[in-house]
Amino acid sequence: MKFDFDLFVIGGGSGGVRAARVAAADGVRVALAEEDRYGGTCVIRGCVPKKLMVFASEFAPMVEDARSYGWDIQNNGFDWHLFRSKMQAELDRLEGIYRKLLANSGVTTFDQRARLVAPNTVELADGRRISAKIILIATGGHPIRPDTPGAELGISSNEMFHLEDLPKSILIIGGGYIACEFAGVMNGMGVATTQYYRGAQILRGFDDEARGLVAEEMKQNGIDLHTGTNVLEMKKVEDGIWVKSTNGQERVFDQVMFATGRFPNSGDLGLNNVGIKTGRKGEIIVDAYSKTNVDSVYAIGDVTDRVNLTPVAIREGMAFVETVFKGNPTAPDHELIPTAIFTQPEMGTIGMSEEEARDLRPIEVYCTSFKPMKQGFAGRSDRVLMKLIVCAETRKVLGAHIVAEGAGEMIQMVGIAIKMGATKEDFDRTVAVHPTMAEELVTMKTPVRTA
Ligand code: NDP
Repeated sequence: MKFDFDLFVIGGGSGGVRAARVAAADGVRVALAEEDRYGGTCVIRGCVPKKLMVFASEFAPMVEDARSYGWDIQNNGFDWHLFRSKMQAELDRLEGIYRKLLANSGVTTFDQRARLVAPNTVELADGRRISAKIILIATGGHPIRPDTPGAELGISSNEMFHLEDLPKSILIIGGGYIACEFAGVMNGMGVATTQYYRGAQILRGFDDEARGLVAEEMKQNGIDLHTGTNVLEMKKVEDGIWVKSTNGQERVFDQVMFATGRFPNSGDLGLNNVGIKTGRKGEIIVDAYSKTNVDSVYAIGDVTDRVNLTPVAIREGMAFVETVFKGNPTAPDHELIPTAIFTQPEMGTIGMSEEEARDLRPIEVYCTSFKPMKQGFAGRSDRVLMKLIVCAETRKVLGAHIVAEGAGEMIQMVGIAIKMGATKEDFDRTVAVHPTMAEELVTMKTPVRTA
């Protein structure tokens, strides 16, 4: 049978665009449909603008520190409007690059929604039907919010990049990556920031000691963090949004942001038309090669709810192309993924937390927490943390956790060693780079605990 295309990709985010480009570069006839802006969550309403906002929010303490270092400078305030328009221009530029990359690779694009109508056919929003030998779903995810009364008065991370004005006060609900990162951003931009998290400690699933330090530093930076607290009810009042919470408080905030998780974008994709299996959250169920239960349909990225990170979606996209178009079956590797949380201070992490590891095997824990030189000189009490979890039998480093300025950059490098199977002794025989914070990673001689 002759198809219109060899590959039809639904979704123009990080994963979909990469798969389309790599396949097209190999001579595959590729089409891609995207109903919104190209670049997806990462470029348009996630990682990239978030990181720009993190950068923007970090200058106020830098000005203070600079004064401690002898600079005669003043912080005359932050201009959100100026920053926002520059940020939007940057996103336009990046979106342009994504479009150009697709065009230059010979991918045919459709700026509209597509849904499956048969195992080898999609229907575009304008009614056109297009056939393809393989269909790849890379539609990402979207923020969700609880059904608390009045929750519609709040916003999600999507709207944070478009705020007309910075609020005077904000309540952020949730304790995951997004909640904690935006709490730091808002606080740094001068917004009175409150965060409610229903559990006992933010950043559930990460190493206890590391997330404990992040929480402590967030509070010290001025974030009014309440754990064990959730919202019961919200109402619009004259001067903002009235919020009643489980800690018995009733407070009014200018703005409320929910960061209570994300769900896969699998609705209205026509999955039922072809009998594609989904899970409890609507995630598309795939095998190790990203294939659904229908042979001609694959899925990658957040819509599969495996590890919801941009670089992972990209890897899944490239492994898909290897498998399907290059005759080289490749399963994306989901083991030992380094990641960073752009809180203030930043956290970089790879591998097992102490709590996870000690349940599995005997371990040694190497950990140090200290005042870094740069901030110490400026009179700050900030602390950083370097921690290694080591298998007592094989000596392999099972996990590394860093809380420090630049932790994201550090964990990328440490990640290579750990991925290669480095032992504690490999770390020890690496000469320290002095004076740095990261040198502590190779100078910790005695375990603080064994378990
Ligand atoms: P997460 O799933 O990480 O966190 C959701 C948070 O909301 C949790 O603290 C959860 O609490 C809480 N929550 C869930 N339901 C409710 C509810 N009904 N009421 C109150 N609180 C609730 O989601 P995020 O939205 O923060 O992030 C989504 C994904 O995006 C992440 O998993 C990550 O993969 C990715 N991401 C990565 C970033 C990075 O790499 N730096 C940055 C941002 C996002 P509980 O813990 O109790 O379940």
